[in-house]
Amino acid sequence: MSKIAILCSGGDVSGMNPAIKQFVEYSIENALTPYLVYDGYEGLIDNNIHPASYADVSGIINRGGTKIRSARSMRFKEPSFRAQAKANLDSHGIDKLVVLGGDGSFRGVEKFYKETGIAFSGIPSTIDNDIAGTDYCLGVDTALNIIQGALDAIRDTASSFKRAFVLEAMGRDCGYLTLVSALTSGAELCLIPEVKYDLKAYERLFKQQIEDGRNYFIAVVSEGVDQSAQEISDWFEDVIGIESRATVLGHIQRGGNPTSRDRLMAYRFVTEAIDGLIAGRKDSVICYNNSRFNYKSIDDVVNKPNVLDPELLRLAKNMM
Ligand code: ADP
Repeated sequence: MSKIAILCSGGDVSGMNPAIKQFVEYSIENALTPYLVYDGYEGLIDNNIHPASYADVSGIINRGGTKIRSARSMRFKEPSFRAQAKANLDSHGIDKLVVLGGDGSFRGVEKFYKETGIAFSGIPSTIDNDIAGTDYCLGVDTALNIIQGALDAIRDTASSFKRAFVLEAMGRDCGYLTLVSALTSGAELCLIPEVKYDLKAYERLFKQQIEDGRNYFIAVVSEGVDQSAQEISDWFEDVIGIESRATVLGHIQRGGNPTSRDRLMAYRFVTEAIDGLIAGRKDSVICYNNSRFNYKSIDDVVNKPNVLDPELLRLAKNMM
């Protein structure tokens, strides 16, 4: 019976646990023996690779993070450790790998495939939604809902106190989380790395709005913009003349129970990944575009600039 393993690499996301559950169940359904690799590529190198049964994945579908943990691995960047990883997989008879991670993880496994012939399917998993070849990455919906909850709570206190609130969202150089969160919370200001901004352009408008009776502002800013949330908050106080607070959500955005969408997407991504491997695909990333799954080569996914959806940008044009 052919053997297949799964691992999580890079930043964890909500949705990895449902993916692991479906991996085990769908593998067994397809006469593959499933293995779990703990601690990402570190676990491949250290032979932390274990056969899995239904019992290993029961009760995890609703949990954030990943039961098999994730890791970054400096050693995996060295050919000698990748050779060790291959020897470990050989010792179990495993010749297929499902990798949940971001583009760094895919670059690593692509090298591994070229050197060893171990076939892989990559599943884009990052809350940043910054992988060029796919519209959706696992974990994004849960992160958006966490941010949404925070913004709804902040709005309550902002409106009670006549304040501006500036919330900093994650996303590295990608403004997706910020853009969608600003739109879905009716923010007054949305600052993202992809769009140049000039706060001066808002001075008159915001002051006028206060005169007209507005008693709070919500601003959502990406961690990747030039100014910090605190600096934007200071601008509200010093220039606009309204008391202001900055909130940096940080790692709260990564956790939480996966939403229905992320659970379903986890199931669908994994099913496509295993189907692809069974069909003989050796080195593909599972992408989701225009509501359909497709298999892409690593080059189509990794070496292209990520572009924000112009339609979303148009919707938000008055807040940035
Ligand atoms: P992400 O997958 O979220 O982009 P990283 O960029 O941190 O996260 O990559 C995760 C892991 O993938 C790294 O710790 C390393 O083990 C492996 N990796 C990344 N780039 C390479 C590479 N060029 N060669 C080999 N392994 C790599």
